[in-house]
Amino acid sequence: MPLDINTLLVVTVVNIVALALISPAVMGPRLGAAANAARWSLVAHAASWIFMISSNLWPETWLDHLLSTLAVGGFAATHCLLFHALGGWLGPRRFAGGVRTLAWLVPLGYALLFGNYAWRVGWANFLLSAQLVLLAIACFRPRTTLRGRWRYVVAAGMAAMAVLTLGRGLLGAFTDLYPTFLTPHPWNVAAMLMTNLVPLIANFAILGGWHEEAENALHQQAVTDPLTSLLNRRGWLEVAQPLVANANRYSLPLALLMVDIDFFKRINDSYGHKAGDRALQALSSLLGGSRRASDVAARVGGEEFCLLLPGSDAEAGGRVDRHLRAQLAELVAQLGHPLDFSSGLAVLQPGESLERLMTRADRALYAAKESGRGKMQVDAGEPLPALGAA
Ligand code: GH3
Ligand code: MG
Ligand code: MG
Repeated sequence: MPLDINTLLVVTVVNIVALALISPAVMGPRLGAAANAARWSLVAHAASWIFMISSNLWPETWLDHLLSTLAVGGFAATHCLLFHALGGWLGPRRFAGGVRTLAWLVPLGYALLFGNYAWRVGWANFLLSAQLVLLAIACFRPRTTLRGRWRYVVAAGMAAMAVLTLGRGLLGAFTDLYPTFLTPHPWNVAAMLMTNLVPLIANFAILGGWHEEAENALHQQAVTDPLTSLLNRRGWLEVAQPLVANANRYSLPLALLMVDIDFFKRINDSYGHKAGDRALQALSSLLGGSRRASDVAARVGGEEFCLLLPGSDAEAGGRVDRHLRAQLAELVAQLGHPLDFSSGLAVLQPGESLERLMTRADRALYAAKESGRGKMQVDAGEPLPALGAA
């Protein structure tokens, strides 16, 4: 059954425009930078095809020159925007500069070479297919927590389009089988079918990326304490548990420092709740900053914090505590009221659970409070009455 290229083209453009209108409406106005770039890529793609069709109304005139240059520039910009979206979702991508440079070279070369059909078609299609290859590559090796299967869908679509676009370039540049984009050559028909299919598939993938991003943001919110931006108790358990399991598996040292502000209620009562909040934020900034990247800080209660120190023994844990106290002493001058804390340090025993480690750190913290506050106590590791028997 022969396929009519004109009908295919009209259906393709109608579909692409529909996608460009519907997807942004579904995604809503409050989008992250990546989803926003993806949304604009749909709009740029639709606009490019409208330019392409319009250019055909005035063949080989200055309007054709202008509109088809805008069309190929639009395709290149579409790729650039999609690449930007991938970068936003998956972390910095290699060849970003290359994709951007190609986006300028495509319309520039096309406009300059317009008088020579073979050159302009070859130039635009080769460079666009190079961009598509870079887009396909960019779907792999995510550097963020986004690693959904939608990436493979984008990669497959871009790779298929790269092959077909390259074929168009070869036919246009080196044969006379492809004199216009409406030529009913089987390769062109296949390319047009793919041009219909790929945006549809890519659109689902974009919605997949957008959904994963939203899901991630929600999870981030669920594990973060809004006042201090440290992990909350839920986040703490999520992050600390695997680190404890890892330390157990490879018999690595690991220490837990539990910190509780002394007489915090008095700060609230004497200086107001706002001052209390500021004190919490100040101590949190010390706990959260300037430590090893593998350390984990969390606010596990009102004015109670946990600091997990992978690779640290009791001595290293003690150093961290002393360093914190020295830093806090400097901060106190800015706060305008006294602020001190007691702490309990427990070093992981072989095969110990996070829960038990926390119970021991808490026991040491209690001992620090009992012995006068403002100091650290190290848990001696004696069996716990409740859990020790288990
Ligand atoms: P101790 O030295 O024995 O630890 O005494 P404390 O006063 O620090 O401990 P206590 O448990 O008696 O009081 C904790 C206070 O922390 C009570 C509560 O109002 C306050 N608090 C808990 N969460 C927040 C918060 O988010 N902001 C402020 N400003 N205060 C908080
Ligand atoms: Mg306290
Ligand atoms: Mg407390």
